[in-house]
Amino acid sequence: MTAAASARQILTRLHEVMASRLHAQAKLDQVVEIVGESLTSEVCSIYLLREGMLELYATRGLNKSAVHVTRMAIGEGLTGTIADNVATLNLAEAKAHPDFQYRPETGEDKFHSFAGVPIVYRERAVGVLCVQHVDPRRYEEVEIEALQTTAMVLSELITNAELVDEEEALGLASAQSGPQTLSGLTLVKGLGVGIAAYHQPRVQITQVVADDIEAERQRVYRAFDKMREQIDGLTNQAEFGAGGEHEEVLETYKMFAYDEGWSRRINEAIDSGLTAEAAIERVQQHTRMRMREIDDPLLADRMHDLEDLANRLVRIVSGQLGTAAQQGLRQDTILIARNLGPAELLEYDRRRLKGVILEEGSLTAHVVIVARAMGVPVLGRANHGKGGLRPVIREGDEILLDAGAASATVRPSPQMADAFAQRFAKSREKRAAYAELRDVEPFTRCGTRIQVMMNAGLRDDVSMLAMTGADGIGLFRTEFQFLVSATLPQRERQLRLYRDVLDAAGDKPVIFRTVDIGGDKSVPYLASGIAEHDENPAMGWRALRLALTREGLMKAQARALLEAAAGRALYVMFPMVSEVWEFDEAKAVFEEQHAYLRSKKKMVPEHIRYGAMLEVPALAEMLDLLIPRLSFLSVGTNDLTQFLYAADRGNPALAERYDWLSSPILRFLRRVVQSTIGSNIDLAVCGEMGGRRLEALALLGIGFRRLSITPAAVGPIKELVRKVDLAELSAAMNTWLAEPQVDLRKEITQWAAERDIEAD
Ligand code: PEP
Ligand code: MG
Repeated sequence: MTAAASARQILTRLHEVMASRLHAQAKLDQVVEIVGESLTSEVCSIYLLREGMLELYATRGLNKSAVHVTRMAIGEGLTGTIADNVATLNLAEAKAHPDFQYRPETGEDKFHSFAGVPIVYRERAVGVLCVQHVDPRRYEEVEIEALQTTAMVLSELITNAELVDEEEALGLASAQSGPQTLSGLTLVKGLGVGIAAYHQPRVQITQVVADDIEAERQRVYRAFDKMREQIDGLTNQAEFGAGGEHEEVLETYKMFAYDEGWSRRINEAIDSGLTAEAAIERVQQHTRMRMREIDDPLLADRMHDLEDLANRLVRIVSGQLGTAAQQGLRQDTILIARNLGPAELLEYDRRRLKGVILEEGSLTAHVVIVARAMGVPVLGRANHGKGGLRPVIREGDEILLDAGAASATVRPSPQMADAFAQRFAKSREKRAAYAELRDVEPFTRCGTRIQVMMNAGLRDDVSMLAMTGADGIGLFRTEFQFLVSATLPQRERQLRLYRDVLDAAGDKPVIFRTVDIGGDKSVPYLASGIAEHDENPAMGWRALRLALTREGLMKAQARALLEAAAGRALYVMFPMVSEVWEFDEAKAVFEEQHAYLRSKKKMVPEHIRYGAMLEVPALAEMLDLLIPRLSFLSVGTNDLTQFLYAADRGNPALAERYDWLSSPILRFLRRVVQSTIGSNIDLAVCGEMGGRRLEALALLGIGFRRLSITPAAVGPIKELVRKVDLAELSAAMNTWLAEPQVDLRKEITQWAAERDIEAD
């Protein structure tokens, strides 16, 4: 018998049981018999959630006296572990698993192998279905799939027969009704107030077993067609213009939407007797299971894109098209989702969408890139324990979102709401005032022109040049294109992006930093070659180190940049330069491509300027030898400070511990400034430090005259520059830096306050 035929046989038998007039307990008793027989398993048991515990409801093979007696807590034993993780276990030797717990009343000591799947309702485990065997053997994939299918049928039975308390299952019983503050991870900064709306609870499947397989197949075909139409429509959406990174994101969508493997797997599941909805869900469950095994965040983001599409497909097929976007937002809304695909986010009316809270999400997720371009604040990883946000946030709750502070307040008290409204009004006022500085050149009080440039990485960011009046792009992070692409961006695609960026920037300079990938910014299509899994990615095989080994990569980028800048100025900057020869080699790659283009009589840039980033402390000792080779030097304080303090920049436990306003950092930076005196190079800071007001003040005080910062900070920094007298500031800095013990933050804050300079 084929796998599909045997699965269909189980389903037919289950279907008969479900359609019978038996009461729920009798149905469960029959289900364990059917599954046990079909998988020739000595034991088959069903545990269901009751009063917070998993209770043995039915069994074949274990002692019947244990039914309604054996109870496991969530997280306890193998059953509890399956429910806790909402994940399948398949073990040849149950006792060998660290979570195994022996329950003598069940009489299970003679069984070795064990497999169990969660019974899922609205993404939460409400029970566990498991099988056990005397022989120590792992169950086969088809057997696990049969269990998963049965678990879906059980989920239908359980909810229809109300065997599990829905409130309890969703954790609503424990929901608190007073104000509650959630913390998370800042993904896109900003403030927002609105009413909570869940993007879309997964469609509740009401029928798992198909009556007519051919009809189900047709339904799924039609749904695929409709989904593809929708995705193609989104790709053509004008909002973000053609050719942006968003297009690449949607390209990934398109790739999945047209993926033959995916539709084939769904069709196979239909062949086994499932309805279209159940088949899509089954395949999705499988995908989720695989996702858990992958700890590559970039690949996981891609898998989320697939989830996004699977949800869309289920909604289309079931006719339950009610995402919050499709129902239309009627008021200011904070959108809540476990995760969200970029296409789904794009469907929202951005006038009403005031913020997004995700249970998952990461900085490099596609949806975050899109949200940033839409100007919607996003709080990520706002995961309230294993149960997610459902127990904490109810549909319709008021939410104050402060994504910059990585927090959100649910059901605020009137005082909290007032205080927030005041902050909000103030921040709006401030933003309006900063916007007015757009065309004002940032001169200090003493008449020194400070260069305020901005950092960018996406095509859309470039529009901020005109909006902020920044002097140029001091750091264009070219790796962003690599991070949002499903495959290595070919030279043509790179060329198009660089050319568009230069066109949009007009006369203003753009400093392109060559790719800083590898380490924590690894891309799945580019194995690092030497160290597959860097233990310390920030200090690992990344940036220039990787690019110099992967010369093809660097050559392609060099050519793309040279061609894009034909007839105009090209500024190239190399990241993570640690030794002088690395700079020389990187430059040589560009020069070689330059010579090649000239030999082919191709148009080349009017001039090329090379620069380096100072991020590795060792390079500071070599500046006298490096500087004569450079046109500009930019200090990447994000990386530099983590190396100076030996403190991982991504480690939240250390985030508050080492201050940029500390003597070691500022003395180090002052020495860098001194090393450049007498040379013609442009010296800048392009790390986050320069975009913060007090830190920017300190940098001006030790001699920096150029900052490249996040676009939102351009206005605030220009405003600050205009209030500063450099001689006075640098005298104060020199005094503080000469003291052995000084609270620099306190001193600078006070100094600023005395001069009517706000700290932020
Ligand atoms: C830095 O390290 O300061 C920097 C600007 O580069 P990135 O943040 O991209 O590593
Ligand atoms: Mg860096």
